[in-house]
Amino acid sequence: MDFRTPSHLVPILERIRSFVDSELIPLEPLFLLGDFDALWPVLEEKRAMVKAERLWAPQLPTEFGGTGLSLLDFAFISLELGRSVLGHYVFNCQAPDVGNMELLHQFGSDEQKERYLKPLAAGEIRSCFSMTEPEFAGSNPVYMATTAVKDGDDYVINGHKWFSTAAEGAAFTVVMAVTDPDASRYRRASQIIVPLDTPGFRIVCNTPVMGDRGSGWASHAEVMFEDCRVPQSNIIGEEGAGFAMAQERLGPGRIHHAMRWIGICERALELTCRHAVGRRLSSNQFLADQQTIQNWIAESRAEIDAARWMVLNAAWLIDTEGAYAARVEISTIKFFVANVLQRVLDRAIQVHGGLGVTDYTPLAFWFRHERAARIYDGADEVHKRVLARRILKPYREA
Ligand SMILES: Cc1cc2nc3c(=O)[nH]c(=O)nc-3n(C[C@H](O)[C@H](O)[C@H](O)COP(=O)(O)OP(=O)(O)OC[C@H]3O[C@@H](n4cnc5c(N)ncnc54)[C@H](O)[C@@H]3O)c2cc1C
Repeated sequence: MDFRTPSHLVPILERIRSFVDSELIPLEPLFLLGDFDALWPVLEEKRAMVKAERLWAPQLPTEFGGTGLSLLDFAFISLELGRSVLGHYVFNCQAPDVGNMELLHQFGSDEQKERYLKPLAAGEIRSCFSMTEPEFAGSNPVYMATTAVKDGDDYVINGHKWFSTAAEGAAFTVVMAVTDPDASRYRRASQIIVPLDTPGFRIVCNTPVMGDRGSGWASHAEVMFEDCRVPQSNIIGEEGAGFAMAQERLGPGRIHHAMRWIGICERALELTCRHAVGRRLSSNQFLADQQTIQNWIAESRAEIDAARWMVLNAAWLIDTEGAYAARVEISTIKFFVANVLQRVLDRAIQVHGGLGVTDYTPLAFWFRHERAARIYDGADEVHKRVLARRILKPYREA
């Protein structure tokens, strides 16, 4: 907590922190050591507890069972949840479901809200998002081969996607597909709901990431759409609006990710400090007495604080002026915080020595899986370009 934490949030954040510490962190070894069969039923119990506590789906309006808080409020919550590898899932605000919920809430038809958003918001089903293709550079969001062709009352979808996070066990995906190849670049594609039991849809495999194929919501699937037929009413928003909606989705999505990463950094620093003061180098010397270790702790603290203010500022800007007005701030936090995360985790692992690379702490898991933070939702270089263009603009115009 600090002086900028809105006062109405303080009791909520304290309850969430206490829940994460007492209910979720003790379960982490099951997750980290891959005992998923034992873990999933316990997580369902924890999810029921979160619902009973009325802390469920904090990003959603109350009509869909959420808390009705602003994006800025949710940013504070996301930080608390990020301290555990299980936080976002247990509170039903994990990616990519959180993005799909926001998308359906903002652009879905009444029928889509009833059929897909309601059960998603209730945590009865999960979903995924299929945009990136192995054969095309995902950094160019308007460049793809997947097509959705109208046939009678249906769309017939053909394409090859990968990194559909959480496809295993999901009920539906939102696929980005070209609906009008002749339209202007930004109007070619649409977003369409495809239930995963639709004939023609198949999961090829869970893509191995840093030696880990994952499971359930913690996995990234390669998928195929082969003459996959869905009703035209499954389109979200209007035809050709796929790119514009993806931009709308990614603005708040980057706040969610960035605050989750800051939560990870906070936990990594907590673990670092606890280890440094407890680890003896000799009978009268501890790791925490070494200046190098103190430097790392100070550097991590300063970088985390800087990152947090930047993200809160971007969240406030989205709340007050919209995602478009905040696009440069969103790009800035995306690459800045992802790199702070890498450095803080790296220092934390180094302080832990051999223990740091084991799965007896969450550090190695985060180090493996959050390397991707500098790639997904736009690689560092793409976001740096956005910021550099704004900085250079007045010089070019002078
Ligand atoms: C763990 C993980 C989860 C993901 N989840 C999903 C998901 O749920 N759904 C989904 O659809 N996708 C998902 N993705 C895909 C992700 O969005 C893409 O990987 C990302 O957009 C980059 O696309 P690419 O991998 O094709 O890299 P490319 O576009 O081929 O880029 C490769 C590299 O080139 C460099 N580069 C790219 N453009 C520029 C430029 N303009 N200037 C300078 N350098 C540049 C960058 O260093 C970049 O890393 C996920 C990816 C990962 C790793």
